[in-house]
Amino acid sequence: MYDCADIERLAQRYVDGKLNDEEKMLFEKHLEYCLPCDKKIEFELKLKEIIRIKAKEKFNPVDLEAKLMDFVRKLN
Ligand SMILES: [Zn+2]
Repeated sequence: MYDCADIERLAQRYVDGKLNDEEKMLFEKHLEYCLPCDKKIEFELKLKEIIRIKAKEKFNPVDLEAKLMDFVRKLN
């Protein structure tokens, strides 16, 4: 069984999907009965999702092109 310290230690690898099946199962078992850890992981996952979306926005070539066009327009 995992305790809260294990969850803390493995949280990053869990949200990155890097745990093996057994680790993942034990991890999720802990979350089922430990609300603070469950909340923490839920937050980590949301944060990861936001970062993923933001990263996409940042490197979106269409968006970049629009920004560039806007910049060029201001120069003229
Ligand atoms: Zn816990």
